[in-house]
Amino acid sequence: MIETDVIVVGAGPAGSSAAKHAALGGAKVILIDKKSEIGSPKRCAEGVSIEGLKKLGIEPSPRWITKKIEGVRIQTPDGTDVWLTEDQVKIPEAGYILERKVFDKHMAMDAARAGAEIRIKTLVTAIDKIDNGFTVETESMGKKETFKCKILIAADGPEGHVARWAGLRPAAKAKEMESGVQYEMCNVEFEKPGVIEFYLGSCAPGGYVWIFPKGDDIANVGLAILPHKADKTAIEYLDDFVAKSPYLKNAQAVEINVGGDPVGGMTKKLYDDNIMVCGDAAGQVNPLTGGGIISGMTGGMCAGKVAAQAIKEDCSKKYLKLYDEMAHEELDHEIKRYKKVQEYLLTLSDDELDDIAHAFEGESFEKISTTEIVKKLIKISPKALLKLGKFV
Ligand SMILES: Cc1cc2nc3c(=O)[nH]c(=O)nc-3n(C[C@H](O)[C@H](O)[C@H](O)COP(=O)(O)OP(=O)(O)OC[C@H]3O[C@@H](n4cnc5c(N)ncnc54)[C@H](O)[C@@H]3O)c2cc1C
Repeated sequence: MIETDVIVVGAGPAGSSAAKHAALGGAKVILIDKKSEIGSPKRCAEGVSIEGLKKLGIEPSPRWITKKIEGVRIQTPDGTDVWLTEDQVKIPEAGYILERKVFDKHMAMDAARAGAEIRIKTLVTAIDKIDNGFTVETESMGKKETFKCKILIAADGPEGHVARWAGLRPAAKAKEMESGVQYEMCNVEFEKPGVIEFYLGSCAPGGYVWIFPKGDDIANVGLAILPHKADKTAIEYLDDFVAKSPYLKNAQAVEINVGGDPVGGMTKKLYDDNIMVCGDAAGQVNPLTGGGIISGMTGGMCAGKVAAQAIKEDCSKKYLKLYDEMAHEELDHEIKRYKKVQEYLLTLSDDELDDIAHAFEGESFEKISTTEIVKKLIKISPKALLKLGKFV
């Protein structure tokens, strides 16, 4: 039996952030992941905001950044484009496209440098509640081990089991789990370089198609759909889109990524005696964009900080409630607001999307942010005013 203060299951962005902050707070931490290479395979379009990284205290590194985002293109079903690019609008350090396979490894290295021990290619197969803690069963290359910890942090992603095993509800109901699929492609043509592209409407029911540039002719080309709104599978929608797009006529896929994205908002219960849940496992995802890197790491940071303090004071749910308060304080504002926008977008037909895009064509923006876009939306669409009036 290997004893430690904190075990974090999952070395994705949320888990590494939790492990780092727990270790920085003085706890003895073991970070466990079933992958043989942390970060690989990726299940992500790899977009993050610069502001988000800054808030987490993460210094951008050329080792894991592939492209700086120079603007946004939004296209509606009739082909109308809304361009939000530097020649038209101030882009206050919008964001980066990462190389997740490198980024995730670097985040785990940060955790290790803070003092966490990392176990790779180690599958957590079961957990058991014991007096003041958990036992955790693992299997690694044929070897079975049992660990004992005072705090267990479940950061095992959208399909994670750990929280459920502990009696907590999973992050998303099936209805709120987007189904995502993506090709990383080369020979992609861009009208404007460095611009992230979004295609709205029935090309991806319940979600959107994206083209996120990673290099001069390289991009993540993917989509997410809500399966109950769709007539086909996600890959069928994506293949249709790729076949029709003039920018992808010569494109070749070098990678395919498939994954679920919980867009239903944060789980009701994020903690219990000796356990906390963070990241996708806790629904810490922007419901509009499906982005969960920054929000998951923020949740992980809160869980890690609370874990380190709890080890010194009290590991019961009475104390861990602090994590719930911190996570809601940090993330509620964004998650709740963007859930509203997502719900509004779900009500729009292709024709309504086109009408909005036509109205947007003549609009000018001061700066680029989702809030700015929603502000304009409210100005031009009565339906948006009705549904999103309280957004800004
Ligand atoms: C197609 C797609 C595109 C996306 N694009 C973006 C984007 O552009 N920007 C953005 O911010 N977000 C994006 N997301 C969401 C983003 O990828 C996730 O929000 C993010 O990875 C969540 O981090 P996490 O640490 O919670 O979980 P994960 O990154 O899923 O990490 C969970 C880890 O737990 C490990 N694990 C699971 N079970 C066990 C077990 N039993 N034992 C040991 N280890 C285990 C897994 O191996 C994994 O490494 C996208 C998602 C999808 C599906």
